[in-house]
Amino acid sequence: MKHSVELPAGHPGLIDLGLLTIQIMPFLVEEARLAARLEGDSWRGYQVGSALAALAGKQLGIYSAGNFKPYKDGPRVCAEETATDAAESDGFGDIFALATTGEPQLDGQLDLPYLPQCDPCVGMMQRRKNMYSPRTLSMLVHPLRNEFGLYTVREMTIMKASGRNLHSPHFFNHSFDPDWEEWRAGEADYLRYANGEIEPDAPYAGIKPGPDLVRLSVTGQLRDV
Ligand SMILES: [Zn+2]
Repeated sequence: MKHSVELPAGHPGLIDLGLLTIQIMPFLVEEARLAARLEGDSWRGYQVGSALAALAGKQLGIYSAGNFKPYKDGPRVCAEETATDAAESDGFGDIFALATTGEPQLDGQLDLPYLPQCDPCVGMMQRRKNMYSPRTLSMLVHPLRNEFGLYTVREMTIMKASGRNLHSPHFFNHSFDPDWEEWRAGEADYLRYANGEIEPDAPYAGIKPGPDLVRLSVTGQLRDV
């Protein structure tokens, strides 16, 4: 599935990707969930969906796809890769936000309520530099509940290289907030930060616009100064 819209007039370099990420992520989550249900194809009923937001000049493109593993010893193509291929073939690049959903694989140790990005997908994001940047923000979210982790490609790369699994500091639970109202309040906080009205606690003091500021905004971690 794909959608594309024209962004408001202005030089593309002036697009605030942090703000756009906050505005668009709940939509990406719903697109990813829909793609998992409608396009996920798994021999064991294990459906994954992914949706991404990419740019081509002032054009914003949203692409989603499901996973493909139709039989046990057959080929496997991840949802993330299919969506990335579709965006690239339409001339989009600069993926700044991505949402992926799949049934959590509980291992009794971490038991995160979402499916971590697999190693080949993290490798794909490192490799395809025209499509992904270290600052691309990836949301991993439960198929039904708004429980999620927010990781940059850089963080996932470090975790992969060090052999550590996705850990909990970036896990957030908005399950009590099914319409993402709390998330959307982050948009106002993000703008208030720009006006110097609110600040995060240390160690994020003096933080610049970017993925960390997005994460702090949407999870209510900015405070009045
Ligand atoms: Zn994958």
